[in-house]
This record gives sequence, C-alpha cells and structure tokens, in this order.
Amino acid sequence: MNNQTDHRIHYQYRNEQFEKMPRRELEAWQLERLRETAGFALRTPFYRKRLKEAGIQSPGDICSLGDLKRIPFTTKQDLREGFPYGFLSVSKEEVVRLHASSGTTGTPTTIYFSREDIRKWTGFVARCIYGTGCTRDDVFQNMISYGLFTGGLGFHAGGEEVGMLVIPSGSGNTARQFRLMQDFGTTVVHATPSFLLHVEAKMKEEGVDRDSIKLKRAFAGAEPYSEDTRRRIEELLRIDVYNSYGLSEMNGPGVAFECQAKRGLHIWEDGYIAEIINPDTLENVPDGERGELVLTILCREATPILRYRTRDLSGFYTEPCPCGRTHRRLFRITGRTDDMLIINGVNVFPSQIEEVIMAMREVGNNYLIEIEKDGVLDRLTVKTEVTPDTFMDDTRPLNALKDKIRRTLQASITINPRVELHESGSLPVSEGKAVRVRDLRPLDI
Ligand code: ADP
Ligand code: ZN
Repeated sequence: MNNQTDHRIHYQYRNEQFEKMPRRELEAWQLERLRETAGFALRTPFYRKRLKEAGIQSPGDICSLGDLKRIPFTTKQDLREGFPYGFLSVSKEEVVRLHASSGTTGTPTTIYFSREDIRKWTGFVARCIYGTGCTRDDVFQNMISYGLFTGGLGFHAGGEEVGMLVIPSGSGNTARQFRLMQDFGTTVVHATPSFLLHVEAKMKEEGVDRDSIKLKRAFAGAEPYSEDTRRRIEELLRIDVYNSYGLSEMNGPGVAFECQAKRGLHIWEDGYIAEIINPDTLENVPDGERGELVLTILCREATPILRYRTRDLSGFYTEPCPCGRTHRRLFRITGRTDDMLIINGVNVFPSQIEEVIMAMREVGNNYLIEIEKDGVLDRLTVKTEVTPDTFMDDTRPLNALKDKIRRTLQASITINPRVELHESGSLPVSEGKAVRVRDLRPLDI
C-alpha cells in the first residue's frame, strides 16, 4: 500500500520541534554540531592530521556548512587502519559500549559509545519507530541478531524508549517466532526483508493461521530490497512495511527511516549531514540525482566520523513530504557501489535482477544469483524458488515461467541468463543479511 495520497493518515511526531524545524534553524543547528564534532575529531591522531592539512586547526576554523567540503572523505579502509582505537576521542573510562559492523565486505570496524552517545542514538531510533504510528500499546518482536550487530540492541533500546513491550527474540527459529507472536500478541516486528519473506513461506508451510497473530507492521532493513519486495511482504503478511536504513559507522539503525507516507527515508539532519556524490568525480551531484551517500555524524562524541563514504547508492527527493517533516528524504538504497557485477562487460546490479523477479506472482520468496566462467565467457544463472502451491512435476507451466523470467531479465539487463526453478524453501536462507550473489569466477591475479 502506498500511503502517499492517503489524507486520512494521522502523522505522529516524537519530537515535533526538531522533526519540523525550519531549514534555516536546522542548518544553524548542524553548523553548531559540526564544530562540536570537529572538536572531538581533533583529539584523534587520524583527524588531527587530516584536518590540519585541510587548514582546520580548531573548531572555530569552520565558518559555514560549506566548509565541510574542505574536509577530505573518510573511507572504510581508513577505519580499518585505525583499528582498534585510532578513532576513539574520549578516554576509555567514558566508553560504555562498542559495536562492530557485520563485516559484509571484509574486516569489521569498531565504534565506541559514551553514555550520552547511547542516549542520543536511542532517541533517534525511538523517533523512527514512533513516526510509523507505533505507541506504548504495541508489542515489538525484534527478530534480528543481537550482539555486536547494531540492529539488535539499537532497536531494542528504541522500542523500550517508545514504551512498547519489547521481545528480544533474535533472528532464526521461525517456529519459536510464531509461538512468541501468538503468546504475547506481537503487533510489530523488525527483521531483514529476506527473513520476513522466509517467515511468510514458513507460516504457510507450517499451517500457522494468519488470524492467530496480531501483526500490523514491520521495520525492514539492513540489506537492500526493491519496492516490489516491500509490496510482496505487505500483501502476503497483510502488514505495513517501513524501510529502515543505518550502518554501524553512523551508530546503526536510526539514521534514515520511512514515515507513514512511505515514500523515501527521512534522514535525521539534526544528527547527520548527508551528501550525495558522484563516486568517480567525487563531486556533489544535484538533488534528485543518484550517487553515493556520504555521511557525517553530529551526535556522537566517542567516535567522530566525518564525510564517511558509505558506498551506498541513493539520492534526495526534491519535493517536500506530506508529513510536514523538514528533514530531506533519501531514495530507497539500491545497493553499494561495490555490488556492481561486470558480466561479459555489461554492468549489472543485483537490485535490477531482484526488481524483475520479485514483481512476478509465480515466483517464490527466495532467489540466488550465480556467475561462473564458461570458457572465456561469463555465465549468469538466476535461481528462483516457485510459490509453495506450485506442482513441480508439471513441466509445461514451469518451462513457460522459466522462459518468461529469462525474457524479462534479458530485456532489463541485456544479458541472457540461465534460469533454474527450485521448490519453495529449498534455496539457502541466511539468518542475518541475505547472501544473494555467488560469484564463482576465478580471480584474475
Ligand atoms: P556491513 O557494512 O559490514 O554490512 P553494517 O551492519 O553496519 O555493516 O551494515 C550497514 C550496511 O547495510 C549499509 O551500509 C547498507 O549497505 C546496508 N543497509 C542497511 N540498511 C539498508 C536498507 N534499508 N536498504 C539497503 N541497504 C541497507
Ligand atoms: Zn514524511
């Protein structure tokens, strides 16, 4: 359901003064916080050197938000080289917690929080949750892994802050998840979109009656997914799904979130400065265009990070949101700059493949993309599950479906893939972020 045109929505704000702050005031607030953050950063050897080179010896050298552009970008590689304490800007006694990125693309990086940092972070997550219409009457089952990953404790604290009853169920074990939902009347869950699809397929398989659970909403994030996948989850589970974006370098969840209009993710500009750059020229692109998201955190003293190249692909909507919030909205994040596959010289993003297959009703809830070498050429195979009610012995409709997927994919990505159909529930499921691509080509060294 697209709520964009629904005028009956009663928008609720956790902190209206900040969420609807006029842009001029918001920018003045950002400048003040940026100076403060630069002050923290100047205490770390990494930024002391970087900022000095950029002519910034003290926070007072930042005169306007435009001066941010004088600061060089920070990359994941910089953070790795600073492991373990290179970016810590307070004494260890002031640190109360650490988190680490899930390491999707290599060695993890560590982020430290002071008590005040945790308080602010929790406030942003609570703002996101409340902005989807949740209240203290809700029962929230956090179906994501706890531990070093920020999605567990981050959402947990935010949910408690809103006053909901929070069930720290963690991810996996669908049978237990259903039981918890039934026993405690869960109304809202948080999970990866791939786990939500898995939950739905399992519900069908195990004969769980939809009417025995009270689920109304889900927060889905931690990995890219298409608008069609959102719609599929909403229709199959009969719930509202809200897109949740965050990354551990920027605290974790609570960076950007959809409001009830469900069109784009408000990035909380009182806590972050967001830029979109062209990843090749490194220049800022105009609003409305796609590019790489660069983020500066304004709400953390223990690990300040300035102009972080997230590698995530997004852009800004230009029109204001019907909810009245003044914070700009990001396009759905379609993947990372380094997700791009080059198959026989053609650039393909996995999100393009997902968009095609998840829009087809006959296709099930899970898929896998494989690339192999076939002589000198690359061969792309797209494996998808079929819906649970498909009869696998009936080859004629299956061949027709295969052909339809192949033709539609070819029209979209200009590559002719091999298509394999698999029984519902037979492709591997990950409890954390889904692994959708298996690149089996030998490395060219
Ligand atoms: P890692 O970088 O090791 O995966 P994180 O756990 O911090 O570590 O994951 C953050 C990353 O997850 C983001 O940079 C982004 O690539 C992805 N991500 C998180 N939320 C979303 C979302 N809603 N849509 C698309 N991608 C997302
Ligand atoms: Zn909005």
